[in-house]
This record gives sequence, structure tokens and C-alpha cells, in this order.
Amino acid sequence: MNIDDVNDPHSDFKFDTLAIRAGHVRTHEGEHGEPLFLTSSYVFTDSAEAAARFSGEQSGNVYSRYTNPTVSILEKRIAALECAERAVATSSGMAAILSTCMTFLKAGDHIVCSRSVFGATTVLLDKYLSRFGIETTFVSLTDLDQWHQAMRPQTRILYLETPSNPLCDVADVESVAAIARKNNALLVVDNCFCTPALQQPLKLGADLIIHSATKYLDGQGRCLGGIVAGSKELIGQVLTFIRTAGPTMSPFNAWVFLKGLETLKLRMHAHSSNAMELAIWLQEQPKVKEVFYAGLESHPGHKLASRQQTAFGGVLSFKVKGDRKEAWKVIDSTKLMSLTANLGDTKTTIVHPATTTHGRLSLEQKEEAGITGNLIRVAVGLEDIDDLKEDLLQGLKAL
Ligand SMILES: *Cc1c(COP(=O)(O)O)cnc(C)c1O
Repeated sequence: MNIDDVNDPHSDFKFDTLAIRAGHVRTHEGEHGEPLFLTSSYVFTDSAEAAARFSGEQSGNVYSRYTNPTVSILEKRIAALECAERAVATSSGMAAILSTCMTFLKAGDHIVCSRSVFGATTVLLDKYLSRFGIETTFVSLTDLDQWHQAMRPQTRILYLETPSNPLCDVADVESVAAIARKNNALLVVDNCFCTPALQQPLKLGADLIIHSATKYLDGQGRCLGGIVAGSKELIGQVLTFIRTAGPTMSPFNAWVFLKGLETLKLRMHAHSSNAMELAIWLQEQPKVKEVFYAGLESHPGHKLASRQQTAFGGVLSFKVKGDRKEAWKVIDSTKLMSLTANLGDTKTTIVHPATTTHGRLSLEQKEEAGITGNLIRVAVGLEDIDDLKEDLLQGLKAL
């Protein structure tokens, strides 16, 4: 094995090696760590070179809205981890989703989207894209019949997240991918909850991967960023949109994400084992009515998640006995967990979905989605598991 092969998409290097080294080619400075290029533009040796760069005849940097060497390292590294030919970085997860929609959709097109996707994704499709004549049909993540029945000749994109937030429902990615293929549509999977350390949806037939790098790819709550990954051909098209419209990732943020990726697999497995232990413990608590975590054998998505994922991730939710009052009491009694809607951080976060992340849903929609008043979501961090249990126990005991 040659270290230069780490940048060869067909190399035999394994995930952990790629997470630490892929994408970086040492400059003449001989730097060990990845260099941070804080520059908006680049100079040319002469006018002929400038002309060749601008026309695309010669590859190379022109302007940091187009390419930046630090951002390029991140893009190559994520592509290697997702088993994608290519990836492109964006300023946030939402910018990645918007850029994907802007690239592949036009007036008259149709999207089929899981009902249980990130709140802003629903708003983007439902409120904004609809203004431009792009319609979305929302379906149950797990009901394949609904996906089938929602398909139209104009359907261009099928969109899902798995496992879902906050109830950890699990999509059958291969089956949804088959529906997409049959209808000449693209399957886009938001892989934010698992990251490629636990799940690689391209291998299951997805066409494009979306990331909010803000979450587990950073892992320590520092920066906003997004990724789109897929085939050279598809990502080339997304890149053209991003270069034109400008939702580019900052090189500083890319550098932070590179540091985050070095510990990605370690962290994802640590998040998963903490979440698993907390889920089992919660099940035993007399004031807890039900626990939602795909790692539990009782969860309807357990078998599918065991097949598609190498671990079950860091997010779980549970219902307490009672209603909103009781849920708020448990949340407000915690001293260690952070009361915030963010997730994918070493610090554990706790939130009441019905009045925050899912607050904009009507009562009927909440009922349908299972977002009841007594539901609490925990994005389990990397603190000691005994301290996390103790933190929840205070509120549970007080009910
Ligand atoms: C946070 C999140 C997003 C949006 O990402 P931003 O970086 O906040 O723009 C998209 N999808 C999922 C699943 C998320 O959790």
C-alpha cells in the first residue's frame, strides 16, 4: 500500500484510514495536518493561464466560490467515506437540500417525501418550492404502498431520512430505491443521523446523499455545513448550481469538519452504545410508558436497522406516563443535559418535540406522526452514562 493511494477511489484502505487521511495531498511545505487556505481568490501566472482556467480547459483554482483547496480535501474525504464518486460541500445542511432541489427540479415536477423529515425540509418543499410549480406528496416513511401510490410521471425526486426524528422509524432503503429506479426518479437520502460510519445508503441503491455536517460530522457543535454526495455526473450538476448561486462552505468550517471526521467512527459507536444503554434503562423505569430506539428488539424497525446499519445511532425518544406537563417536568429537572433542539454533539441534548421541533404541525398532524405531548427526545452525547441516567432520574422520580 502506498500513502498516495489513499486518494484513489479504488484503494483498499479501510474506513478509519480514509476518515483520517483521504483527500489530503501534502504541499511543498510538508505539512502533517491539513492546511487551511483562507483566500477568496487565486492568481494566474499569465493571461493565457487565466483564460484557460476560466474556460475550464485547465483545472485549478479560480475563486473560492468555485473551489478552495481545504474545502476540496473535505469533499474528497466525505466522498471516500460514503463510497461516492464525488461530493460537494455547502454552507449548511439546508443549503445542500436546496441546491439539490434547484439542480434537478423544474416547474411541473413532483417530489415524494417522507412525512418524517427535518422540519425546515418540509417547509422548503411545502411552502417555497410549491411557489415555483413543484408539488410534493408527503408519505409515511415505512409504508411502501404509499410511496408506490404517490408516484406520478412527473416525479423526479424521492426524499427520506432514516432513522427518523424523533421516533426512530426505519425506511427500507433498497425497496424505496427500486421504486425510484422504476420511475426514472432519484432517491435522495439525508444520512445525517447515521453518518457513513453506520450506514452507506449509496450501497443500498440511493442516488444522492445529503448531510447536515453541522451534526455528527463535526460532532462537537462548532460549525454549520452541508454535503451532497453521489455520482460524478450528478454532483457535477449540483456543483454548477452552487458555483453560480453561492451557498459555498467556508474553508474554516471545512477544516473543522476534517478534524471532526478523524474521530467519526469512534464517536458514532460511543454515541450508539450510550444510547443503547440509556434506552434499555429507560424501559425499566416505572414512569416511562414507551421507548423508541431501533436498537431495541421491541422496535418495529429493529430488523431492518440491523441489516442496513452497523449500529443504531445516538438519538432516542420516550413517552412518560402523563402528558405535556409531566414531560416538561422531566426535561426541566435535568441539570446536565442541554435543553436545545440541536443534536450530534458530544454534549447530550434534550427537547420536547411537540412544542419545539414539531411545534408547527397541527394537532391532527402531530397525532398522525405520533408526536404526543408526553414525548421527549434525547440526543445522547458522550458523557458518562451513569451521570445521564441520574440526570433523567431526578425528574422521573418527581412524577
Ligand atoms: C439539522 C438537520 C438538517 C439541516 O441542517 P443545517 O446544517 O441546520 O442547515 C437537515 N437534516 C437533518 C436530518 C438535520 O438534523
